[in-house]
Amino acid sequence: MIPQEFEYTVPATLQEALTLVADGERKILAGGMSLIPLMKLRLAAPSEVVDIARVPGLGGIEESGGVVRIGATTTHHAVESSPIILAKCPLLAECASHIGDIQVRNVGTMGGSAAHADPAADYPAALLALDAKFRLVSATSDRVVEAADFFVDAFTTALEPGELIVEIQVPVEEASEGPRYEKVAHPASGFAVIGVAARIKKSGDRITMARIGVTGMGPRAFRAREAERLLESGSDVAAAIATVGNGEEVNSDLYAAGDYRRHLARVYAGRAVTTALSRAS
Ligand code: FAD
Repeated sequence: MIPQEFEYTVPATLQEALTLVADGERKILAGGMSLIPLMKLRLAAPSEVVDIARVPGLGGIEESGGVVRIGATTTHHAVESSPIILAKCPLLAECASHIGDIQVRNVGTMGGSAAHADPAADYPAALLALDAKFRLVSATSDRVVEAADFFVDAFTTALEPGELIVEIQVPVEEASEGPRYEKVAHPASGFAVIGVAARIKKSGDRITMARIGVTGMGPRAFRAREAERLLESGSDVAAAIATVGNGEEVNSDLYAAGDYRRHLARVYAGRAVTTALSRAS
């Protein structure tokens, strides 16, 4: 449980941080909630970590032009309690409130969670349902990647060596839409055995927009596009959610076998959609 010896560097600016990680040799440290346990288990053994938690300009939450911009080092607790996010992206605030416990939420960061891409992390379900984007910056590049292209596989993202997530861009939810995040938390770790984020817009009794993001079921989070399409074309909720997970790879472990995980994904998608529907006006 003792990590290999390593250098610890605190850059004063984003530019300095980018220069330090440019060759891909050093490891970025944010909240340390995932990296430090890996180092203690010696599953990661960086010779130097670059602590970005207090780099100016990497934290904070602001809204402009219908987009909420969340700095990468913003903690989960700041996300769940931000007046801007509660008002403009309530699905994301609800999702953040389900992460771990208060100690984890006080230290863990949104950028760290996304970069780590744990298959059982909560944010990916909400970020997919919200059509969020990631701004990725290196010493020589600055690009924006859709959430659907960012989460590639278990613990694998679109980040290139030397790139940092600097902000997560989340389109403002319409006040009339209904959001809901439903989760089966693992009893020991709190991670999502299944997490489902749903957004519903309706006109009268007709669903005009459905978004369903699922995490925990397979190696990476995914959108339940067939279920979304069925809901938008007038199918009832039961018929739509029966398609959730079709064609997706399923994880299986000592706690939850693959078939059980897929079953949970459908049950919790049904609950998330039903509540989102009742919240839509
Ligand atoms: P770190 O651990 O510092 O870094 C994680 C990885 O991301 C490292 O590879 C690092 O190099 C990289 N990185 C960090 N920031 C950036 C950046 N800006 N750009 C590029 N790369 C970066 N998560 C859940 O979703 N749901 C849970 O229920 C949950 N429960 C937890 C329970 C416990 C007891 C613990 C310890 C963790 C739990 N987590 C859970 C994980 C938690 O959310 C972590 O905060 C998160 O996974 C990592 O964020 P961090 O800021 O601590 O990143």
